Amino acid sequence: MAEVAARLAAARRRLRAAEASAGRPPGSVRLLLATKTMEAAVVRAALVADRDGTDRPAGELPVLVGENRVQELVAKAPELADLAPGWHVIGPLQSNKVNAALRWAACVQSVDDLALAERLQRRCEAVDRTLEVLVQVNVSGEATKSGVPPAAAADLAVRVAALDRLRLRGFMTIGARSPDEGVVRAGFAALRDVRDEVLARGAPGTADAGELSMGMSGDLEAAVAEGATLVRLGTAVFGARPAAPA
Ligand SMILES: *Cc1c(COP(=O)(O)O)cnc(C)c1O
Repeated sequence: MAEVAARLAAARRRLRAAEASAGRPPGSVRLLLATKTMEAAVVRAALVADRDGTDRPAGELPVLVGENRVQELVAKAPELADLAPGWHVIGPLQSNKVNAALRWAACVQSVDDLALAERLQRRCEAVDRTLEVLVQVNVSGEATKSGVPPAAAADLAVRVAALDRLRLRGFMTIGARSPDEGVVRAGFAALRDVRDEVLARGAPGTADAGELSMGMSGDLEAAVAEGATLVRLGTAVFGARPAAPA
């Protein structure tokens, strides 16, 4: 558990260094802990270290938590409700899992089609609440990755933002799997371009869509250099995941 605290501190130092070399103020990028395959006790150790730690700059908000798999979300969230009341869903969300996910989710980062957005809207109506959402964009075009193609992303975002129970907060992507830093950065820049286009259009409900959720343990520096406002870290904080998916 002390190991998790030490790794969180190291990840923060990495983030600070990335902000500095991008000429951005310390604390301008928020950290989200990607908890897939990690047990609640390990996640708790990181959240306690974050709460009690002194290495978070004054301007930076506490860490967020994000889960890929709804099954894991519903298993872990109750155990962590005292420390993490709101979760981000960061993996593909099947329609039959929407109701379960919304019991714990404050934000769904993986909205990549209108049918999912409409289903989220209907569920929010049924339980009389609102939900923060990000539109996930597939900037690399890799077939294995979820997300709307960049060319269709702004239109989708405008339509999502028109749904009155959904609060469009910005955009999310998973970086290209490439050893070429230029390719990775171009993908992140493409997400920023989508965001800037949506903000410039000024459609109803899009005024707060500034968030850029991009950058993971392997590519956070590239993402911060291209304007990430939120990086999602798993292995950098929790160590390697078990080889077989849990
Ligand atoms: C697993 C995952 C992460 C974290 O990945 P690491 O490489 O372990 O930092 C971030 N975002 C999403 C969507 C993920 O699935």
